[in-house]
Amino acid sequence: MHLNGHMVEGRGLVVVVEDEPSIADVERLYLTEAGFGVHVERGGVSGLAAIRRLHPVAIVLDVGLPGMDGIELCRALRAADDWTPVIFVTARDDEVDRVLGLELGADDYLTKPFSPRELVARLKGILRRQDGPGTSPPLTVGAVTLDRSRRTVVVDGTDAQLTTTEFDLLAKLMSAPGRVFSREQLLSSVWGHADYGGGRTVDVHVAQLRAKLGVASPIRTVRGVGYTAS
Ligand code: CA
Repeated sequence: MHLNGHMVEGRGLVVVVEDEPSIADVERLYLTEAGFGVHVERGGVSGLAAIRRLHPVAIVLDVGLPGMDGIELCRALRAADDWTPVIFVTARDDEVDRVLGLELGADDYLTKPFSPRELVARLKGILRRQDGPGTSPPLTVGAVTLDRSRRTVVVDGTDAQLTTTEFDLLAKLMSAPGRVFSREQLLSSVWGHADYGGGRTVDVHVAQLRAKLGVASPIRTVRGVGYTAS
């Protein structure tokens, strides 16, 4: 079965919060071409809700937004101990000073007008740093050990042969043992998609993973919610 044939195995979902449609469109275009899934929100309140719902790999955040502005949004995230990488998009130099001066944990910033290629390059740079070897110690749940740097999975001393998607899905679940991930969250972080209709794809990949890992599989189904590793 190739139920995932229509889905792109991308770099993960990026939430763009931008109230100027022309800028949001350009950002969506370039990020999509670079392999990211993109979800756009036009206001700070809806942006924060989307980030909390979708768990993106990164956020492209305009400072000047209606309602809650980008700085307030970022402050709310950090106050909730959410350290998802944020690239700020600022309209003026004094906004840059504000972003940097407030120590919001901004990962980078761009001042309008900016090159969309530069945005993509900055984003890739941040995610590369985040995933770099040495920053990802092996994860162990029960008899399964997953090494994110070497991309290997060992079950009871034997290497398991997983596809890229199976590996990324297992890594996501094992990154937070006991935490329950919804199908939507797994789709957005592993496939870069967030549409509800794709939940079946997650189920199929979980079934494949369970078949490969056998009785040692740490994946548990949480009925009506999603999956967890424990
Ligand atoms: Ca704006």
